[in-house]
Formats: sequence, C-alpha cells, structure tokens
Amino acid sequence: MLEQARKLLQSHFGYDSFRIGQEQAITQVFDGQNTICVMPTGGGKSMCYQIPALAMEGTTIVVSPLISLMKDQVDALQAAGIPAAAINSSLDVYEVREILHEVQMGIVKLLYIAPERLDSEMFLDGLQGVKVPLIAVDEAHCISQWGHDFRPSYRLISRMLEIFPDHPTVLALTATATPQVREDICRILDIKEENTVITGFERANLSFSVIQGQDRERFIRDYVQKNDKEAGIIYAATRKTVDSVFESLVKRGVKAAKYHAGMPDDERRLGQERFLNDEVTVMVATNAFGMGIDKSNIRYVIHYQLPKNMESYYQEAGRAGRDGLPSECIVLYASQDVQTQRFLIDQAQDPSRIPGELKKLQGMVDYCHTENCLQQFIIQYFGDGSASVCGHCGNCVDERESQDVTEDVQKVLSCVIRMGQKFGKTMTAQVLTGSRNKKVLEFRFDKLSTYGVLKHMNSKEVSNLIEFMISQELLAVEQGSFPTIYVPDGGRDVLLGKRRVLRKGVVVTKQIAANDP
Ligand code: ADP
Repeated sequence: MLEQARKLLQSHFGYDSFRIGQEQAITQVFDGQNTICVMPTGGGKSMCYQIPALAMEGTTIVVSPLISLMKDQVDALQAAGIPAAAINSSLDVYEVREILHEVQMGIVKLLYIAPERLDSEMFLDGLQGVKVPLIAVDEAHCISQWGHDFRPSYRLISRMLEIFPDHPTVLALTATATPQVREDICRILDIKEENTVITGFERANLSFSVIQGQDRERFIRDYVQKNDKEAGIIYAATRKTVDSVFESLVKRGVKAAKYHAGMPDDERRLGQERFLNDEVTVMVATNAFGMGIDKSNIRYVIHYQLPKNMESYYQEAGRAGRDGLPSECIVLYASQDVQTQRFLIDQAQDPSRIPGELKKLQGMVDYCHTENCLQQFIIQYFGDGSASVCGHCGNCVDERESQDVTEDVQKVLSCVIRMGQKFGKTMTAQVLTGSRNKKVLEFRFDKLSTYGVLKHMNSKEVSNLIEFMISQELLAVEQGSFPTIYVPDGGRDVLLGKRRVLRKGVVVTKQIAANDP
C-alpha cells in the first residue's frame, strides 16, 4: 500500500518522498484506524488524506471550514487531474444536485464540504449509498469548545458518520492543538489517543522575537524599507490599525496590499492575489487573512499588536518561511494591548468561555515577558516539554547582562501575600510604589509594611516586573470577573530564599505611537 502511496505522491504531486508524519498518518488510514494528525501550518497535512483518497475506492469527504480554502484546494486538485468538487453555500440547489449526482456515479474522488451542509436533510439524503472510505476533518480544533475557533456546526460531523453503514475512517487534522483540545477531538470523533500523529512544532528556520517600547509605526516603516525585496505579512488586531499602517506604508512608496473583513470582497481578493503573485511585497491584515494561503517565500510575519493567544499566534507566525529559509516572526508588544484583547474577549464570547480565553491571553502575555528561549516556550505551550533552546530567537541572542532581582521579587511576593492575594496587578503596583490612590487608602494598604518599598520604580516598571514574574511562574493569575494574582509554589521558594531570580530587564526607549486603538 505504502509503495502505491509513494507512486501517487510522485505521479500526481511531483514529490519524491513523504515528509515527517505523513507516512505514519497515511499508513494508519490504510489500516482503517481513526487518526488525529497534528502538524504545524505548512507541514503538509492535506497530503495525508489526498493520497489515501486517490488510493482507496469511493469518495473521500473533506470537511473544511472556509469556502476560499476549499476553492483553492479543489482548483489545485483539478489542475493535477484529480476529480474533486466542493459543496458550500456559494452553490444553488441545482448545482448541489449535480455534484451529488456525480458523487453517486462514483466520479468524484474528493468531495469538500462546509460543515453547515451537514444540517441539510437533502444533502445527507444525497449521500446515502455513496461509498465513503475516509472522512477528513480539516482544522479539527473547530470541533472543540476549548479551541480558539470553535464552530458549533462541526459537532454535526458525528451525525454524518452515522449515515454510512460501512464506517468510514476518520482523519482529523489540525495545526494548533493543545493537549486539552486534542483530547476533545479524540473523544468527539472516536479516535484512540495512541493514534495521534504529532510532528515537531519546532520550525528551526523561524527566529522569534518580542519588541517592546518602540514607536511601532516607525519600527514597521524602517523594517519594511530595510527588507524591501522580501515578502512579509503585518498583522494588526483591528481594521482601523490595518488601514493606518497600510496608509503609512503606501505613502512612503512601499508596495503593499491590505485585507480585512470590512473591505468589499473583490477588493480583498485583488489584494490577496497581488500579494500571492509578488506584485506587492507587504500584506497588512487582520487575522481574517491567511487561512489556506500557500505562499512559501514569506520572509517575515510581524504582529503589530499582541495576538489573542498562542494558538492563533503560532498559526499566523508559521506562515513565514514555509520554504525552509531563515525568516523572522516579531511581536511588537505594548502592555496596553492586553486591555484591547480583554475588551474583545468580553465583547465577543459567550460568558462561559471568557475565563478560558483570558487564560490563553495570559499565555500570550507570558510569551512577551519571558526571558527564556521563545521557540522553546511555544513548543512547551503546545505540550512538548522536551524542546531544547533554539539559539537564535531574540532572547537567545540577547547579550545584556542579567541582574539579580531576587530582593525586588521578594518584596512583590510579600506584598501580594499581605494584600490577601485577592487583588490585581495594577493595585499591587500602586501599593508597592506608595500611591495615594483612593482605593489604596480605602483598603488601608498604606499601613502595610510593604507599602512603598519599590518607590524607586514607577508603576509601569513594577507592572512589568510583575508580568515577568508571572511568565517565570513566580506569581500566578486567577481569572475571575477581574484577574487577581497569587503566590504559587515557585514564588514561595524565592520568598524562602531557596532560589534566586535573574533578569535582563526591559529598556523603555520610546513612547508608543499615539494612534493605537
Ligand atoms: P498544511 O495543510 O499542513 O498547512 P499543506 O498541506 O498546505 O500544509 O502543504 C504545504 C505545502 O507543502 C504545499 O505546498 C504542499 O504541496 C507541500 N508538500 C506537502 N507534502 C509534501 C512532500 N511530501 N514533499 C514536498 N512538498 C510537500
């Protein structure tokens, strides 16, 4: 079987060998074992169901969340001479019937469907009697409430599985599964955990860095001009920021395009095409841009603002350097971004999901404050504790001297304990810097022995120190209606003098640009 798979890889796609993980996933599918395949973006997940689809008798169904993604895949397959079709909301009833007819005739090898289709009786009836050896669930994290992109219609997949009497094999694919999401996918789609194929999340050619305290617009202008021959994406959190960054680049003669959900469809599509065809070098976009984009020579991905969580960040940053050449992934961080993201979380989510989303946001904030290897931080976040340091991220190459900050850290810790471990970062910083704020006085915190013990620092510096301590697990955050901080075991060790804390510190060089949201 595997030999045949290799031949198909060569004859239909022109590749000589499988990439890591592909072979294992394909073998398990041939064996009829439900499988989950976790690979980074660009890892080559599609091949894991396209090859079996070609080798097996019948029609493979691929559930995919985005019409544009489906369209690209179907076009590419058809161009390679593989009979593929897609059913989604852009088709009328007659077109759907026509495709279902072709499926019934056994002509279509790969049928892409949007999950919403599974709600339609007509559609499910049309599939009755079709031989379906494999159901591939792309972007499978959409099935989990814990994922960053939960789509209720993904839950209909279980229902679809019931209509095929000869039990198709299920292959779930995702780039962004934390252990919790992975468990969820396995439970809902009936996949044994040992049938997980997970390939390294490490992307050795990517250099990560976090830049804080810069004029962001100026940073972008300088960076883009310095790298004017290279393709790159700049992600911003709001449409307004996309517009203003785009304007400022175009004004300076940079060949840029923009992309966000507030633009007319054709304008967006045109921008995307110009970027894909190298007519412009820079794409300025919200996170609406990028899913399913197959452009291998992206040399940098800059996040103009803090992304909402590590899952989205790694997926977006991972669009850089798919060709394996050195590429940069930069987050421009300012602490006020945390408020913007909190606001967006409060607005958009159903209330039961807010604590989970806030916890993930904290993971992203931790990333911005850690002084450890950034690549290693990411890989550990995704559940692999064995990762080594990358040697080339912003932190690995940071040559500033470390300072012993144990005493300041102890002062913060004992202040948090004296305040009853029931308050947030800002209030704690106010007490430590000796603020006369009304609330501080109301709670009589000015009477604490730790009141004003960090007077020599301003409250922003103390807040930064607290964030650094959180990223080092010396303090922890309790996500309630508002976040409070408490002292976990790691912090106790420092208080008891069992452990010293080194820090390179943050140099604030410039005020942040005034036009942030
Ligand atoms: P993912 O879905 O994991 O993000 P894709 O399936 O889109 O990734 O694959 C990314 C790129 O890698 C595509 O251009 C694809 O053609 C290419 N690719 C996949 N498998 C192989 C392989 N075995 N050898 C070389 N290139 C491959």
